[in-house]
Amino acid sequence: MNQDIYVVIEHLRGQVADISYLMLVGARALAQTTGGEVIAVLLGHDAQGLANNMAANKVLYVDHPALAEFTSDAYQKTLAGLIREREPRAVLFASSSIGADVSGVLSARLNLPLISSCQSFSADGRPISQICGGKIMAESDLPDTTTLLTMIPGGYKPEEGQSGKAPEIIKMEAPSLDNLRVTLKQYIEPEAGDVDISKEPIIISVGRGIQNQDNIEIAEELAKALGGVVAASRPVVDQGWMSTSRLVGKSGKKVKPKIYLALGISGAPEHVEGMGESEVIIAINTDTNAPIFNVAKYGTTIDLFDLVPALTEKLREIKKA
Ligand SMILES: Cc1cc2nc3c(=O)[nH]c(=O)nc-3n(C[C@H](O)[C@H](O)[C@H](O)COP(=O)(O)OP(=O)(O)OC[C@H]3O[C@@H](n4cnc5c(N)ncnc54)[C@H](O)[C@@H]3O)c2cc1C
Repeated sequence: MNQDIYVVIEHLRGQVADISYLMLVGARALAQTTGGEVIAVLLGHDAQGLANNMAANKVLYVDHPALAEFTSDAYQKTLAGLIREREPRAVLFASSSIGADVSGVLSARLNLPLISSCQSFSADGRPISQICGGKIMAESDLPDTTTLLTMIPGGYKPEEGQSGKAPEIIKMEAPSLDNLRVTLKQYIEPEAGDVDISKEPIIISVGRGIQNQDNIEIAEELAKALGGVVAASRPVVDQGWMSTSRLVGKSGKKVKPKIYLALGISGAPEHVEGMGESEVIIAINTDTNAPIFNVAKYGTTIDLFDLVPALTEKLREIKKA
């Protein structure tokens, strides 16, 4: 085993996900304690240009038509070979549907430990991870074998994972990727006519605390007064109260608005993954211990049913004046 820290770069349709840059920063912190290098692992097809601004010592680039788009099958095969052959100290994946899919299978297939929801590393290289839905931060040893970790936002700034100096890029041979069981057939775009919440600057997001579908109207009124749009956490979408195109989080969209107002949302890691990089997060939640307050810049424990209509009224008055 060597002491290098690998970062599996997540990208979609020509765009590197911010979490990838954030992981490079985390990898740098960890590499300082192991004495190894930060190695970005980029899988793709004609995608080498994506590596140019990565703050890594080296980039291992595997090019193959079957890697043009993410599929679990192709990623697993390619990464399994790479990890087996090179035995890095640790491999960081995004805590996303892609990262969770690949890291879980690789952990089982290669019999390697997996630490999930890691937010940062202590000064002596111990992973600090969220457990119990974000209610507890656990600091653990880094097992003394190649360790897989999934990383969540919040511990590092993605901007610091970018560099003006292109890293050394090493082209790697792809394994045989014939007879894959999974291939991408098409991307399914959000329903026509609906807004794309990932591009909206002001988002009013409702969680289970909204209680029922009829109450969503108070959030819509507030959104109108503020010039924003309404989004939702998963229970709201699972109940069928809002469309999946409005879902924020691991299984929905990643959003990065100027203002994210969370109404009755607890702040589970799967939700924070989708909104944790918003410029200003404001939380309205009656539970003082709700994890949403860990990522919020402003917060209040006033009942949302008291606050939201009053806030809407006030905004309307200001607009009229
Ligand atoms: C694989 C996987 C993927 C997932 N993907 C996602 C995802 O993409 N997006 C997502 O959101 N979740 C996702 N989840 C679910 C996630 O774990 C949480 O269960 C979910 O985010 C909780 O939603 P919530 O905060 O709305 O509800 P809860 O956790 O039930 O929180 C409701 C909050 O409302 C507050 N509240 C209640 N009444 C009021 C009131 N009157 N005024 C103010 N506050 C009030 C409560 O204090 C509470 O904190 C996923 C889970 C898994 C396992």
